[in-house]
Amino acid sequence: MISVTLSDLAEFDGLIPWLVSGAWKEHFEPSELKAAGLSIHTLRFLDEEEAYDDPTFLLGSEVREPTGRRHRTAVSFYIDPEDEEYPVDFTTDCSCDFSYTCRHAAATLEFLSSIAATAGPARRSPVNPEIGHWLRLIRQAEQNVTANAARATSPAKPYNKFLAYCIEFRESRYPAGSEVTPYFGLHIGSYNKSGGHVIESTHATADPAKPAKYMAPEDLAICAAYHARRRKVGAWDSDMPLGGSGWDEILNAALATGRLFFSRVSSAYRSSRIYQTLTEGPPLHVEPGWELFENGSARPILKLPGDTLEIIPTLPLRYIDSAGPTLGLLHSEIPDEILTVWPEGPLIPAGQVPEINAELRSIPTATPLPTPAEKPAQILSGLAPVPTLHITWVHCGVFQKRHIGGMVRFQYPGCPVLTSSRRWPPTRRRKPRGWTATSA
Ligand SMILES: [Zn+2]
Repeated sequence: MISVTLSDLAEFDGLIPWLVSGAWKEHFEPSELKAAGLSIHTLRFLDEEEAYDDPTFLLGSEVREPTGRRHRTAVSFYIDPEDEEYPVDFTTDCSCDFSYTCRHAAATLEFLSSIAATAGPARRSPVNPEIGHWLRLIRQAEQNVTANAARATSPAKPYNKFLAYCIEFRESRYPAGSEVTPYFGLHIGSYNKSGGHVIESTHATADPAKPAKYMAPEDLAICAAYHARRRKVGAWDSDMPLGGSGWDEILNAALATGRLFFSRVSSAYRSSRIYQTLTEGPPLHVEPGWELFENGSARPILKLPGDTLEIIPTLPLRYIDSAGPTLGLLHSEIPDEILTVWPEGPLIPAGQVPEINAELRSIPTATPLPTPAEKPAQILSGLAPVPTLHITWVHCGVFQKRHIGGMVRFQYPGCPVLTSSRRWPPTRRRKPRGWTATSA
């Protein structure tokens, strides 16, 4: 769909002659200008808010390759008739790998030039620049009158864009799904005709000092807190890891707007994100505890009261229940500060469990910290150990040469063979004391 017409272009002083002159071509490599077979699928005006640096107007196009693949290109125009050297300037951005002044942008400008070329001979501009300026003011004022009249007759259409507060669970790729980190970021969303919403993948600037049209009054304080936090933690990425203290103000207010969303992002399927609206869930009880393994080792965990719950490591701790989806607080008899660090503990080998238990009991909390069960030692009597010899390759010496080595193990009948991670034989052997003296 092409929704840019010659009369649209004529609204911008000097744009049509500039396009027809081909002055824009000097910004492109000759090879980009010669790209054959590209066709413009759509061309339309975009909201200027989607551009970073305040252009006079912004055009978006969809350019189709001969292969059928489409790229989205945006061209920001800067028009300043007072600027004698560059009355018209532009920047481009594209979804292709080259991003700036690529062949898709060139094809878009070529297409615009072809629209501009349908204009008749250029109006002669007044000799006196002051008169020209005054005429422009009159023309602008007339356009404002028309625009105001149009606004007055049609009922105010609600602005369909909004600021979306987004929590994303990102699964790391290697190994797949091994770790899931929640992130918090701001995006622009829009309501579609069926009442649903679409969240754009690009981030919203959401500067409270220069509020954009998609921001509502209640967004200003949240955005101020969000940017203050980013500065404080030095998060220069668009998203901040969602963890630690100081999130109450942001999350509670974002929930209250009804525009807090939740998405699960796998690095493999970045393009297909589904954002669900989060509502507030009830405070839930969480129990610090232990995951016990067959061999007697144990790992500290937090036991959640449901399979669909996932922990958000903020202070105080929160959860997201993907069944809702809801966001709520977690509480326990154990203080929040301890709860947040509890699941970070490592796997504790069976042999160290009694020692760790003694340590945990010595920590003076109001409610005692849970301890893993100690696997009682089994006393076997009347069994004779069976010596076994294991022959294997071993690497020893400073140069780690390969030798055949043997290892004697004593195995009790019916008991698992204990394997040791220690290298055998020891790779470095000290010379016996006095060896040098004896040989001398
Ligand atoms: Zn491109």
